[in-house]
Amino acid sequence: MRTLAVVGGGAIGLAVAWRAAEAGWSVTLLDPAVATGASWVAGGMLAPLSEGWPGEDRVLEFGAASLARWPGFAARLEAATGVSVFVADETMTVALDAADAADLRTVADWVGSRGHELRMLDRAGVREREPGLARTVRAALLAPAEPAIDNRKLLAALRQAAETAGVVVRAESVDSLTELPHDQVVLAAGAASAALWPELPVRPVKGEILRLRQRPGVAPAPRRVIRARVHGRAVYLVPRAEGIVVGATQYEAGFDTAVTVAGVRDLIADAEAVFPGIGEYELAEAGAGSRPGSPDNLPLIGRLTDRIVVATGHGRNGMLTVPLTVDAVTGLLGGAVLPEAEVADPQRFSTTVGGNR
Ligand SMILES: Cc1cc2nc3c(=O)[nH]c(=O)nc-3n(C[C@H](O)[C@H](O)[C@H](O)COP(=O)(O)OP(=O)(O)OC[C@H]3O[C@@H](n4cnc5c(N)ncnc54)[C@H](O)[C@@H]3O)c2cc1C
Repeated sequence: MRTLAVVGGGAIGLAVAWRAAEAGWSVTLLDPAVATGASWVAGGMLAPLSEGWPGEDRVLEFGAASLARWPGFAARLEAATGVSVFVADETMTVALDAADAADLRTVADWVGSRGHELRMLDRAGVREREPGLARTVRAALLAPAEPAIDNRKLLAALRQAAETAGVVVRAESVDSLTELPHDQVVLAAGAASAALWPELPVRPVKGEILRLRQRPGVAPAPRRVIRARVHGRAVYLVPRAEGIVVGATQYEAGFDTAVTVAGVRDLIADAEAVFPGIGEYELAEAGAGSRPGSPDNLPLIGRLTDRIVVATGHGRNGMLTVPLTVDAVTGLLGGAVLPEAEVADPQRFSTTVGGNR
């Protein structure tokens, strides 16, 4: 049996390990702290269409291709573990002023012209669907095909599925990819991947996020993902069985996962402008993580050498792009290139990425 080392046990590494083991590889996953990185703090939106913007065709199509794979991926995971990871069926991006509404129309027109369904809602349409939102919400963009997942359920299910499929999880940090004795190696160490392959143009992008618990008698949480821009800052609310996740700040701050007072203040104020009921919720957790950012907002998925495959740089969309990443990596391990993932080939940065180690 051919041996595979997966370096990094976030959502990407766990999913790759699981599916590679199912495909017949003898898999060892190495991570000193499995499921504690960005994947643990994430919001769980799967929203490539709502985040579309004219000119960003490659990011839209990559995200949409992964979104289309989510139902099959989730069904397979549920069959393996009994766990359903979805927490919402739709995404609604709301406008608080005329400029926001005009931007939403721009997104609807452009994403629509690419063949994806988005619908504009007027004030009444918003209230009918989400009566708890602020009365200042004047319009919204509804993405009926954009669900959300519970990232922590996903991680637990992926680990369970991986171990059931025979993956051996070792709580070890890897210092050198070349010293691993396995036939193949997948580098999936998230924002820390450049420490193991310095030429990779991957950097940490800090994000802070809150977890709010619903208390008895308070306004019910929105049923959909709610996204907005408040004072120029993006904010979103993602439903959970126990309440709401409110995210997320975004800074270039190196490997800093301290939660700042200003970050929490802004998230609460911005979320409250959209959903006034949150003041009565319990602030259960404030966390921060390092998104693995890339220069062009597309991940790096491809071969670095004939023995090493990389899967990192998923930035703000690492939950969304798990299914496409997994299919691309297992394809590469079997000698095939997945056409939809070719835009993510790290060789697009060939002057820096290098190879042959
Ligand atoms: C606040 C926030 C909100 C987000 N919200 C969303 C969202 O709503 N939707 C979405 O799609 N994405 C979201 N993301 C992005 C998403 O979380 C990331 O893109 C994704 O988690 C990256 O997964 P990963 O497995 O590559 O990295 P990680 O989850 O960071 O995992 C990397 C793993 O590698 C391990 N590791 C590091 N160095 C080594 C080493 N030397 N040896 C062995 N192991 C090592 C770490 O311990 C870690 O477990 C969000 C991110 C943040 C921070």
